[in-house]
Amino acid sequence: MTGMDKLGDEFLDELQTELPNVSILTDPDVTEPYRRDWAKDPGAGSPRAVIRATCTEDVQAVMRWASAHRIPVVPRGAGSGLSGGATAVDGGVVLTTEQMRRIDVDPVTRIAVVQPGLLNAEVKRAVAEQGLWYPPDPSSFEICSIGGNAATNAGGLCCVKYGVTTDYVLGLQVVLADGTAVRLGGPRLKDVAGLSLTKLFVGSEGTLGIITEITLRLIPPQPPASTVVASFSSLDDATASILAVTRVIRPAMLEFMDQTSINAVEDALKMGLDRGAQAMLIAQSDSPGADRTREAEFIAEAFSQHNATEVFTTDDKDEGEAFTAARRFAIPAVERKGPLLLEDVGVPIPALPELLSGIAKIAANRDVTVAVIAHAGDGNTHPLIVHDPADADMTARAHLAFGEIMDLAIALGGTITGEHGVGRLKKAWLPNQVGDDVMLLTRRIKEALDPEGILNPGSVL
Ligand SMILES: Cc1cc2nc3c(=O)[nH]c(=O)nc-3n(C[C@H](O)[C@H](O)[C@H](O)COP(=O)(O)OP(=O)(O)OC[C@H]3O[C@@H](n4cnc5c(N)ncnc54)[C@H](O)[C@@H]3O)c2cc1C
Repeated sequence: MTGMDKLGDEFLDELQTELPNVSILTDPDVTEPYRRDWAKDPGAGSPRAVIRATCTEDVQAVMRWASAHRIPVVPRGAGSGLSGGATAVDGGVVLTTEQMRRIDVDPVTRIAVVQPGLLNAEVKRAVAEQGLWYPPDPSSFEICSIGGNAATNAGGLCCVKYGVTTDYVLGLQVVLADGTAVRLGGPRLKDVAGLSLTKLFVGSEGTLGIITEITLRLIPPQPPASTVVASFSSLDDATASILAVTRVIRPAMLEFMDQTSINAVEDALKMGLDRGAQAMLIAQSDSPGADRTREAEFIAEAFSQHNATEVFTTDDKDEGEAFTAARRFAIPAVERKGPLLLEDVGVPIPALPELLSGIAKIAANRDVTVAVIAHAGDGNTHPLIVHDPADADMTARAHLAFGEIMDLAIALGGTITGEHGVGRLKKAWLPNQVGDDVMLLTRRIKEALDPEGILNPGSVL
C-alpha cells in the first residue's frame, strides 16, 4: 500500500512534528481553492493537505517525507496556470510556495536572486527600483508567481523581441524528489560547466523537482515605445500584415485579437474598440532614437497597405498601455461569456494564416464559439473555446474542437503549447507532436529523477 492510498493523520502529524512552524492545512473549506489552477480541471482531486513552505529546508523535509511514504506532491505557485498543471490529486498534498517571497537584487552583476512565491509584477517592481528590467511579461503578470513562470517557461507580450523566461534564468536551486537540494548555474553571465541542467528544469512543470530559488538575468530599462493599433475587416489582411512586419523588423510587441475577443473586451471595458472589425493588431517599437519612429511608421504603412480600416499611432505611454491592458484582459473578458477550454497552439509564422483560417473552420464545423487572441509576432495563438458545461452536446463538441485545433497545429509543423505547458489537459496530444523516441527519452529522464513518480503525477506524462 502506498501513502497515496492511506495518507492519514499519523503521516501528517509526523511532518508537522518535524516542521512545527509550517502551516499544514487540512480543512476542506481552506484547501478547496488549492484544488485547481485557472484551467479549472473538472477531474481535480481533493488534496489531503496543503503545505505552505517557507524556505528550501521546508521543501526538502516535505520531499523526504513524501518520498519515504510515496505521497504525491503537486507543486503550486499562484495557481494561474492554464493547462491543469497545478491540479490536486486525491490523497496527495499540494506544496505551495506562496510564502517564499525573498528577493535580492545585485545591480552590479545585474541579477536578482528570488524565491519562487514572489509575483512576476513584484519582481519587475523590485528590480525597477534599482534601475533594471526583468522583461518576460505574461498577460497574467500581476497574478502569477516567478516560480510558476520558471516551471512553465512562461512567455508574454514583449517576448517576441526580448525572449521568454528561460532566456533570463541563470541559475536555480531545485529540491529533488528525494529531498536533495541542488544548485544549478548561478550568478555568472557565462557558465558551461557540465550538462545544461538548469534548462532541463525550466519548463518541467513540477514533474522533475521543486524550484526554491531562481537567479535572474536583468537588463537596462525598456526604452519608451511607440504603439500602432489597427483594425481589419478581413482575417487574411490582418495575418498578411503580420508577415509583412515580421519579415522586416522584430517589433517589441505584435498582438492579435479577433472579433469575438474585441467584443468581449469592449463589453467589459467600454473603451471604444471597433466592434465590427474582424481583427485588431497592437504593435510596439521600442528601438532607440529615430529608429523607433521609423519602425512605427513602417508598421503603420504595412497595416495600411493590407487594407486596415483604421490605423492609430501614439507615442503616449498611457495610451499605449490602455491598448496593451485591453489585450491582457481578453482571457477574463471572454471567460465572462462562459467557461473556456483554453488553447496555446503555435506555428512557424508563415503558417499563421492557415492556422487561423483552420481554427475558424473547426469552430464552424463543431458549431462552437472560438475566440482567438495571439502573441502574433511569435506565431503563438490562444483559441478560447467557450462552452456551457450544462449542455452535454455542446461540451462534447467543444472537446472535439479542442483536439482538432491541436491536431491542426501539429500538421502545420507547430506546437500544442507555446508557453502555458502541457499539464494534464494537453498530455494526450504530446506524443503526436514529439514522437515515440522523444516520449521514451522524456520518461527515462522522469524515472531517473523521480523513480517513485510522486512529483506532480498525471501531469505532462
Ligand atoms: C488571464 C491569464 C493570462 C495569461 N497569460 C499568459 C501569458 O501571456 N503567457 C504565459 O506564458 N502564461 C500566461 N498565463 C498562464 C500562467 O499565468 C502562467 O503559466 C504562469 O507561469 C503560471 O504561474 P503560477 O505561479 O500561477 O503557477 P501555477 O499555476 O501555480 O503552476 C503552474 C505549473 O508550474 C508548477 N510549479 C509552480 N511552482 C513551481 C515550483 N516552485 N517548482 C516546480 N514547479 C512549480 C505547477 O506544478 C504547475 O505545473 C495566463 C494566465 C491567465 C489566467
